[in-house]
Amino acid sequence: MSEKRTELEEIGEFGLIDQLTSSFANQKPSTLKGIGDDAAVIDIGGGNVQLISTDMLVEGVHFNLMYMPLKHLGYKAIAVNLSDICAMNATPEQVTVSIAVSNRFPLEALEELYSGIKAACENYSVDLIGGDTTSSYSGLVISVTAIGQAKKNDIVYRSGAKEHDLLVVSGDLGAAYMGLQVLEREKEVFQANPDIQPDLDGHDYIIQRQLKPEARVDILNFLKKLEVKPTSMIDISDGLASEIFHLCKSSTTGCRIYDEKLPIDGKTSMTAIDFNLDPATCVLNGGEDYELLFTVSQEDYDKIAGNPHMTIIGHMTDVSEGVYFVDKNGSAIELRAQGWNHF
Ligand code: ADP
Ligand code: MG
Repeated sequence: MSEKRTELEEIGEFGLIDQLTSSFANQKPSTLKGIGDDAAVIDIGGGNVQLISTDMLVEGVHFNLMYMPLKHLGYKAIAVNLSDICAMNATPEQVTVSIAVSNRFPLEALEELYSGIKAACENYSVDLIGGDTTSSYSGLVISVTAIGQAKKNDIVYRSGAKEHDLLVVSGDLGAAYMGLQVLEREKEVFQANPDIQPDLDGHDYIIQRQLKPEARVDILNFLKKLEVKPTSMIDISDGLASEIFHLCKSSTTGCRIYDEKLPIDGKTSMTAIDFNLDPATCVLNGGEDYELLFTVSQEDYDKIAGNPHMTIIGHMTDVSEGVYFVDKNGSAIELRAQGWNHF
């Protein structure tokens, strides 16, 4: 180690991953995709591939047990990992679960966590096939690895978008972020005065989106029925802006998205306005929607337009045209990648 000291906050999460891994070259022909997509892709022969993706959830960084019930946490830990497999247009099949726990947790609490893990495994019909258990001095850490399968030709990478492709998103956006804002607000009210009961009335939808996200396996099935294969795809774990940047960078394209097209549930907008936030900003910079963001060829316009589960929010442009957000007045604003930065 040299004398030089670089603070992690200077380079951010993606800069850090890049810095640590850019000198690694894949040596195995079976490694079709290593670092740099939602999941790694491994050739298993016969035209089939296996997908592998890992995500870690850390108490105090990714969840707060004051408002996150352990059962929901277990469910979410699985769902968010399966979402990465879905983002490759593949079917999740197995998971491993590793936990680090402090003795602050009794057996019953961990059984609660595992009841959520079980519910997710049943819902998505994936098998829990292993993991690791160890102690921790501070809090709970959950690391899940998801394994999936697909035909090699069905895999969709982040890198396949072309100029003029349509940019499409599933479901609606920004709700999980607003759900988190409501939970945080009620936590603060409760901490200031424990006699006051949390007021979560009318916020069921956005809170559910925060506490119990789903992996959009159903969207992959819709696309299959419509005979649409996306040209590129990613799941929205950070904000929309950050994910668009990943698609554009991997595909070497620019992009234009339109404020008026963003799918935002009425309850999300109303809560954002209550909090003095612009709903579009919550969509762009919020996170944890776990919807799918993908591009399709212009030829597929008729198959996608009007579908209640998907919204066309813009189109890809030449890389020289940059990444732009067109607001409701028609002004084009250059987007900047933000996403979550834990450091
Ligand atoms: P996602 O948001 O889809 O989970 P990430 O942004 O976490 O993806 O990771 C981007 C890529 O970097 C992935 O291919 C992931 O496997 C890889 N990656 C992340 N952290 C590390 C690490 N510490 N060492 C090696 N590869 C990593
Ligand atoms: Mg992802």
